[in-house]
Amino acid sequence: MSTYWAELAWLGGPGLEAGVAIDVAGERIEAVRIGVASPPAASERLDGLVLPGLANAHSHAFQRALRGRTHRGRGSFWTWREQMYALAGALDPDAMLQVARATFGEMALAGVTLVGEFHYLHHGPGGTPYADPNAMAAAILEAAAQAGVRITVLDACYLHGGIGVPPDDVQKRFCDADVDAWAARVDGLAVGGHAGSSDAAGSHARFGAAIHSVRAVDPDAASVVARWARDRSAPLHAHVSEQPAENEASLRAYGATPTAVLEGAGALSERFTAVHATHVSGEDIALLGGARACCCLCPTTERDLADGIGPARRLRDAGARLALGSDSNAMIEPLEEARAVELDERLASGVRGQHGADELLCAAVAGGYASLGWPDGGEIRPGALADLVAIRRDGVRLAGVADEGLLDAVVFAGAAADVRDVIVGGRFVVRAGAHVTLDVPRELASAVAEVVP
Ligand SMILES: [Zn+2]
Repeated sequence: MSTYWAELAWLGGPGLEAGVAIDVAGERIEAVRIGVASPPAASERLDGLVLPGLANAHSHAFQRALRGRTHRGRGSFWTWREQMYALAGALDPDAMLQVARATFGEMALAGVTLVGEFHYLHHGPGGTPYADPNAMAAAILEAAAQAGVRITVLDACYLHGGIGVPPDDVQKRFCDADVDAWAARVDGLAVGGHAGSSDAAGSHARFGAAIHSVRAVDPDAASVVARWARDRSAPLHAHVSEQPAENEASLRAYGATPTAVLEGAGALSERFTAVHATHVSGEDIALLGGARACCCLCPTTERDLADGIGPARRLRDAGARLALGSDSNAMIEPLEEARAVELDERLASGVRGQHGADELLCAAVAGGYASLGWPDGGEIRPGALADLVAIRRDGVRLAGVADEGLLDAVVFAGAAADVRDVIVGGRFVVRAGAHVTLDVPRELASAVAEVVP
């Protein structure tokens, strides 16, 4: 057993605890002792503010290679997508391993201990499966292991180029022949009896399903994916109403919004996460809230792509839970995603204070862990996974903040650069601001240079 001693720790709620000893046995927290004034003998001291590890609930790791290449000029989500497709068309499993490992390394440095990789780039050029039909997913799993972060691979079913439209050449790489072929392939990935975990992949990995969107998956196929996830008690994610054009196409084809189509397919439940939920109607909000579904907002990407501002407060009021994602990885700043939920809504509504710092932090930790099928993480309590982040308070952003204002300051002004230590399963992955095994900036430079077309 080992012990970490936190100068200050957030154990949930609006306040902080001073002097917290966290006993760890194996991968899990065994005991949490508060009011321990000085570090116990042989303990590891964690300076600053200790939080549960952060969950990045929605990522497409390879899109990190687009950073700095898509921000200039005009356009929309749809013109950005053309640039993304050009990159996707150039990747193979080896390049995926390099770029994903570097990207997950960047996430670890930002305090991310669990990533949800929404994975749709399955096959080789022209849609030809690799000899191992899950070679791309295997590369992603290996990348997370080497970067030291936990991962849920959300394997996305993708069948159509749009509603009633066949896939184009790049989209063929995302597509299985039909939904049964998708299920058979994913069963091969999620070995080990149930989709919740896999011995073959190690304790760092769990699996779930995804319906890419109602654009790419028809309602009958969506119901098969939903049943697959239900039968395995696995998480189920879908891109939902990121763009008004998606709603219009869905209403034209099905006479229903994407959320209503997914409800009809049996997708909505407590295991379901609607990614974005930007342009949802009042009825959609009631459906998502009534199902106690999770909504994963990705504000830095939604800004970058001119998507819009999701109705986070109304979703919460209706009963939905929140999680946060870096999505396109245009930036990897989990604390920015958290505060943007509140700050973007202030701009849209003219009202301040709809989400407290502790509530925003909840979305960044326990909300994300639950969304990704790890209800045993995202909190500092006995029995939970020993995933911790220490935020330094002696840097330029947080210096001069008193203890009682520290939680607000971390959420509203903190940055990835303030992450000092990251512990996953009781082991340091980042120590004193440096990744313990990877030279992340160098890896990013070489991986991106390799894959940019
Ligand atoms: Zn996405």
